[in-house]
Amino acid sequence: MKLVSVARSRQRAGLPLITVDKVNKAFGSAHILKDVSTCFHEGQVTVILGPSGSGKSTLLRMLNRLETHDSGRIVVDGIEVCDKLKELDALRSEVGMVFQQFNLFPHLTVLQNVCLAPMRVRKTSRAEAQAGAMDLLDRVGLRDHAHKYPFALSGGQQQRVAIARALAMTPRVMLFDEPTSALDPEMVKEVLDVMKKLAASGMTMIVVTHEMDFAREVGDRILFLDKGSVAQDATPQQFFGSQQSDRIRAFLGQVA
Ligand code: ADP
Ligand code: MG
Repeated sequence: MKLVSVARSRQRAGLPLITVDKVNKAFGSAHILKDVSTCFHEGQVTVILGPSGSGKSTLLRMLNRLETHDSGRIVVDGIEVCDKLKELDALRSEVGMVFQQFNLFPHLTVLQNVCLAPMRVRKTSRAEAQAGAMDLLDRVGLRDHAHKYPFALSGGQQQRVAIARALAMTPRVMLFDEPTSALDPEMVKEVLDVMKKLAASGMTMIVVTHEMDFAREVGDRILFLDKGSVAQDATPQQFFGSQQSDRIRAFLGQVA
């Protein structure tokens, strides 16, 4: 109840859901993110593009504290992401994440995978968690597979379970890090279709992908990272339009 009213007042005030302010990150002597400042608004689908090694995964992982930042500020829905963070569970509940490798628990059924976090973290009853999980499995087209184990599913199906599992915590934002890169080509569409439906439902999404058609059609905004800096922040029309910089033209030439 409280979170909802905080969110409503933020929306009314036009405040971003996530603020990233002058964030820096180094691994050893390699300066990976350089003074990155940006923000993400409620209901917006941001697609992060950029060459391999430009810092896309690092930036995404910082938003739910899978990675620390060296300096600058990150605030997610009013939660200051910092060393003193006491609300890691709260942060992770707000920020769902889907990875390239689906990371399902192999010894649990599909249904158990989706129920686990709500029961453990939210203390939701088994019956309520299962009912919610079945609704989510319905949404990703996998209700009939609820009692199977991950190994019995295709990669595309496993990734759809991973999406349902993240949604089970009713996150306010969903992060996707190259969710279709590990899939056989024929399975990419079924995952992108689930993501499109999620976007249409109004979910706030930040998506790292090399799927340019998805970026163009579903993205409200393209953030282009290059060597650890935001090199462009544009609408898809601008980004894919005719006024591209040489750098972006070269990048698009490589991924096309
Ligand atoms: P992208 O997702 O854009 O390909 P990453 O954020 O994964 O880029 O990585 C950016 C750079 O940081 C790369 O050079 C990578 O090797 C380096 N890097 C990422 N994670 C680590 C880590 N845990 N330790 C050391 N170097 C890392
Ligand atoms: Mg990456």
